[in-house]
Amino acid sequence: MRRAVAGPEIERLIQLLARLPGLGPRSARRAALHLVKRREDLMEPLAAAIADAHEKISICSVCGNVDTRDPCTVCADPSRDPSILVVVENVADLWALERAGVVTGKYHVLGGTLSPLDGIGPEQLNLSGIIGRVKGSSIKEVVLALNATVDGQTTAHYITDLLRETGVKVTRLAYGVPVGGELDYLDEGTLSAAIRSRTPF
Ligand code: ZN
Repeated sequence: MRRAVAGPEIERLIQLLARLPGLGPRSARRAALHLVKRREDLMEPLAAAIADAHEKISICSVCGNVDTRDPCTVCADPSRDPSILVVVENVADLWALERAGVVTGKYHVLGGTLSPLDGIGPEQLNLSGIIGRVKGSSIKEVVLALNATVDGQTTAHYITDLLRETGVKVTRLAYGVPVGGELDYLDEGTLSAAIRSRTPF
């Protein structure tokens, strides 16, 4: 058995850090040591920021985004174009598109994609909300920014059928999104090209 190099408090910190995406046991150890060394100017504010965010986190009742206010910062932003609604699979995709800085409109987060094999049907997703948001609103175009996977495209077709009666224009991402590709892993340039070259669905 490997002997512990630190007390249980620090070992626990390392174990928790190792659960973060992109951090293996080695980098978790390095991060923990960094925090310990910079106790005053990093560890303390980080602990406070985590506690603060943890207390205030909520799901936006309008779009399904995660934020510390409801409606979320994106929904509440008056400078956004109310005629464009971008549908994404999850919050990571919303954040990825925001990083690329190409979306002028607002978002709708589905919380997943239709996946009959995994037992994920329309009821499990934030789908009914889309119709409600589009009907009687100023939304003129719905952009389906979904992954180029089988499930993503199945979901895109489903939403297109769902929206047919509203007469709203439905577009989807075109160039740049590789088949089988996930939006979260694309670079900003590819994402912004995909948004700009979207095509009618
Ligand atoms: Zn929102």
